[in-house]
Amino acid sequence: MTPPQTYDAVVVGAGPNGLVAANHLVDAGWSVLLLESQPEVGGAVRSDRDVHPDFVHDTFSAFYPLAVASSAVTSLRLEEHGLAWSHAPAVLGHPRSDGSWALQHRDREVTASLMDADHAGDGAAWLELCAQWDRVGDQLVEGLVSPFPPVRAGLGLLGRLPAAGGLGFVKTLLTPAAQLGRSRFGGDAPRLLLAGNAGHADIPLDAPGSGLMALLLTMLGQTVGFPVPVGGAGALTAAMARRFVSLGGEIRTGAEVTGIDVESGRAVGVRLADGTRIGAGNAVVADVTAPALYGGLVAPEHLPARVVRGMRSFELDPSTIKVDWALDGPVPWAQAPAYAPGTFHVADSVEQMTEAFSQIAARAIPADPFLLCGQMTTSDPTRSPEGTESVWAYTHMPQHSVRDAGDGGIRGVWDRDDCERMADRMQARLERLAPGFGSRVLARRVLGPHEMEARNANLVGGSINGGTAQLHQELVFRPVPGLGRPETGIRGLYLGSSSAHPGGGVHGAAGRNAARAALAHTRLGRILPQSRRR
Ligand SMILES: Cc1cc2nc3c(=O)[nH]c(=O)nc-3n(C[C@H](O)[C@H](O)[C@H](O)COP(=O)(O)OP(=O)(O)OC[C@H]3O[C@@H](n4cnc5c(N)ncnc54)[C@H](O)[C@@H]3O)c2cc1C
Repeated sequence: MTPPQTYDAVVVGAGPNGLVAANHLVDAGWSVLLLESQPEVGGAVRSDRDVHPDFVHDTFSAFYPLAVASSAVTSLRLEEHGLAWSHAPAVLGHPRSDGSWALQHRDREVTASLMDADHAGDGAAWLELCAQWDRVGDQLVEGLVSPFPPVRAGLGLLGRLPAAGGLGFVKTLLTPAAQLGRSRFGGDAPRLLLAGNAGHADIPLDAPGSGLMALLLTMLGQTVGFPVPVGGAGALTAAMARRFVSLGGEIRTGAEVTGIDVESGRAVGVRLADGTRIGAGNAVVADVTAPALYGGLVAPEHLPARVVRGMRSFELDPSTIKVDWALDGPVPWAQAPAYAPGTFHVADSVEQMTEAFSQIAARAIPADPFLLCGQMTTSDPTRSPEGTESVWAYTHMPQHSVRDAGDGGIRGVWDRDDCERMADRMQARLERLAPGFGSRVLARRVLGPHEMEARNANLVGGSINGGTAQLHQELVFRPVPGLGRPETGIRGLYLGSSSAHPGGGVHGAAGRNAARAALAHTRLGRILPQSRRR
């Protein structure tokens, strides 16, 4: 038998984390092969023209504050590889049922004056929160995108904490999002904006962790904005792929990895669906979900007992329904916002958002789903012809529903009928805020959990974050207790997906952490005698 072709590293999966890992490995002079099962790279960072040929829609993710704030991505200098960013006039908006808006402008002074007009004193409170964040925000972000434990960023954070308010600010970070808004602001504009941003993760708004998520996204909105790649989300991952190939990396698409070969406790290569074997001299980095890796690509008998035990309680994040619309005009808002936002959230109140989260926890399909939405042509005029709008909304569902808390018509099996009914429920929410929305629809696409998983195997059951972001599965508990790092317990195999710390979002940190661990172990392996290599 001919020996398999061998690379220093094989990366499985070309989502943003796989692409970031591949880039960092090729930067170190390694030969790297990136294998992707789909016909194109990008994972959940892709765009297409399937809804309407004149409209670009982001198939999954759309806004990238985490990418522009994360050194794992910025260090790649993707602008030199064709990436350009675009911003909407306002970062974020929340239309209220009376037609008025809660708005976050990129300029904090403008945001503050809008809030003051709503409720005197909230502007000053907003600026104070921004000032506290300025003192520690960059260290906090660096800590989040560093391998756990983040020693250097942690020390930096500790040094600056007194200036940000000391333990008082730590308490702010730990306060649940719903309470955070109530405790610092009198009006509902900042409360809605904070709670809506917390809703990007699946942490209940009355649980610790939701406040940190709220602050992180809201303050990034205030510092770096919510940028989108010019031309579509896929332009971001295309730039990553171009950079990688320009440095000698190799990409194979349509190449599904079906197994990872382990010999004497070490990953030595991968097997493809067509039977091809490829060797990995130093490392295999897996940009796949933890359940797909542990007991899937790697047979259970090769896994340490604690990983097998830990995976029994691994928890996915909720399912997702996403709707894309091509509109023949702008969104006909009942009352136009003072500044047009890229991202907008739909919920009548923070309480209604909390209720939707509770219904999901009770395995019910929400009656009034909380919507996360984007006006993409407003954010980047290249997305559709002038005067039209490329719009999307997504919402979360239980992974396994036991009832419909709405009109009872949705069964939770997510066949075409369920998906279209849910899309109607979501569209009806937009119609109330923007009368005539439906009459502007040229085309609509609904992606339910099955359609998502078919386009990206990591979106298991429509989960978007590689596992719940709740505290019990974060940090040292991600993906199983005791790991919290990319090491898998098998030498030469690293988990580099959103199932690893620090979780979902396009920051590339899990990919860079995996690449760094692989490089460090290989260097160490060359120094240590064979008997001490672990
Ligand atoms: C609807 C939606 C909206 C989102 N919105 C945002 C947003 O606006 N901003 C943000 O920051 N984040 C957002 N996210 C989250 C973000 O997109 C993900 O956290 C991120 O893409 C995770 O990156 P990843 O590289 O770990 O995995 P993925 O992007 O999921 O990529 C994994 C890749 O691995 C491939 N793969 C899997 N198994 C195999 C195999 N066996 N062999 C070969 N290839 C394989 C898949 O095909 C895929 O290409 C959103 C996600 C979704 C689904």
